[in-house]
Amino acid sequence: MSNVRPRHMLHCRCCGSAEKLVKAHVIPEAFFREHRDGSDMPLIISGAGREAPKRSPIGIYDTGILCLRCEEALGATDSYGIDVLLKRFGQLFLPKSGLGRTVGFEATEIANHRLLQFLIAVLWRASVSSQDFYGGVKLGPHEDAAKQIAFDVAASSFGVFDAILSKWRDDEGIGLVTPPLLNPHRERWHGVNAYRFYFGQVVAYIKVDARSFPEPLRRNSLLNASTARVVSRNIATSKDFGAMVSTTRGSVKAEEARRAGRRGNTA
Ligand SMILES: [Zn+2]
Repeated sequence: MSNVRPRHMLHCRCCGSAEKLVKAHVIPEAFFREHRDGSDMPLIISGAGREAPKRSPIGIYDTGILCLRCEEALGATDSYGIDVLLKRFGQLFLPKSGLGRTVGFEATEIANHRLLQFLIAVLWRASVSSQDFYGGVKLGPHEDAAKQIAFDVAASSFGVFDAILSKWRDDEGIGLVTPPLLNPHRERWHGVNAYRFYFGQVVAYIKVDARSFPEPLRRNSLLNASTARVVSRNIATSKDFGAMVSTTRGSVKAEEARRAGRRGNTA
């Protein structure tokens, strides 16, 4: 009997087990399906549009991070995120108006801490993943804390983590109905570090910083607001818009949509 293991053998990044690892998604597959834009495969963009966009039938997964048991342990949390941000978003989040337009959405039936746990579970998997698409996510000294929250939120404090959600609106009638899935990346809000992730129509800004979000963002965060809130942002004035339309396909689709007079078919 030999206890020598192949040097390349991978261990589960959660429990350390050397059992066979599974095809684990970081962003659940359901969200990739939202970005199919009429094709069978979702359009995925890395590097803010500088690299050629790719298509992948089931999104991006990593076979080197989780064993079956740990993958399954995240199942209920992933389901909650998919339910709230995708399947029942339109029922749960009611629009709030101001100055004649939608300024945001609010939901009273959501457990903010469970939604935040979902976001952090995705963030942790992105940090331990070796896929290029998630290469911009590196939690460093906060990686263990993120893992603890992902697998046992009841025994954890949120510490440096919090999140704000937003949804694009189309004031200029650009007609960009299905944004491609941009790779997550780190950015700063008045010096406070947060990672931007796309979840279908919703954009999450997941804070990894001991400081709070600056106001007025802070009062809309999942930890500080008494209800779950989604801030409405105008797509045409966002820096992501440039990355979205810099792909030929995106430009063509936007033009087609404008001509057809379609807009916001998933409002
Ligand atoms: Zn495991």
